[in-house]
Amino acid sequence: MQPLLNYDLHCHSTASDGLLAPAELVRRALANGVDVLALTDHDEISGLTEARDQAAALGLRFVDGVEVSVSWGGTTIHVLGLNIDPGNAQLQQGLHGIREGRRERAKKMAEDLERAGIPGSLEGAYAYVDNPNLIGRTHFARFLVEKRYVSDVKSAFQHYLVSGKPGYVPHQWATLEDGLAYIKAGSGVAVVAHPGRYKLTRTEMRKFLGEFKDGGGTGIEVVTSSHTAEQFLEYAILAGEFGFLASRGSDFHGPGESRVDLGRLPSLSADLKPVWHDW
Ligand code: AMP
Ligand code: MN
Ligand code: MN
Ligand code: MN
Repeated sequence: MQPLLNYDLHCHSTASDGLLAPAELVRRALANGVDVLALTDHDEISGLTEARDQAAALGLRFVDGVEVSVSWGGTTIHVLGLNIDPGNAQLQQGLHGIREGRRERAKKMAEDLERAGIPGSLEGAYAYVDNPNLIGRTHFARFLVEKRYVSDVKSAFQHYLVSGKPGYVPHQWATLEDGLAYIKAGSGVAVVAHPGRYKLTRTEMRKFLGEFKDGGGTGIEVVTSSHTAEQFLEYAILAGEFGFLASRGSDFHGPGESRVDLGRLPSLSADLKPVWHDW
């Protein structure tokens, strides 16, 4: 029997909206008992080299990853690409295109917040951005906390930045087809991130999973920090039904901001086929 390894295949560094530099994240993962770590920044792979080098130096197994933003029928869906080749030009160009859209969205978000009586949010959000090519809602959320419009990042998302609230700007990400094509070009495994977070009916979720599978997607995140225990079960059942490989990832963004730390999640149930089965 192989010993049960601690896989954490979803987290964020300062290359996107995480609080720790890639190397710091790797050190924290090791300290937390993680055996295999994937860094999956939003639409960005520039943190992978630093993380991979640090992991190699410390003897931690590292997996190159990314979290791709796609739009599916008006809903934003995140698709993880695991075990990608970061050197692939089509993957790089596709992610570049998605990041360009973020810059424009950020300007509009700031204009909307300004109309709601909150000035200076574009500069304010950029002050929290480490990678000038990747601005996201989390950076605006940190600015809103700093200026005391809200007490923490979670409430920033409750009162602003989400549909129907000031600072929300609907956005067209990559199509599902394109997002899957980028991951496939980079020889990665495509995994639906935190399926429990999408506002989809059961019927819509099944329709999405069917299209995801037809488009070449093979995995689904079952154990992740935003899922309840009931959702672990719900998505384990859907994984079985659709024949998806199951994944486990904390979606850690930083100490103090994320409820679940690196590697600190329940194990995948033994009857699931894990995404790492043939790694
Ligand atoms: P973006 O890709 O820029 O639209 O931002 C998405 C990110 O915002 C997610 O990856 C989370 O880091 C963060 N986020 C979204 N909703 C929430 C929430 N309710 N509470 C905390 N963070 C959130
Ligand atoms: Mn994020
Ligand atoms: Mn996500
Ligand atoms: Mn994530």
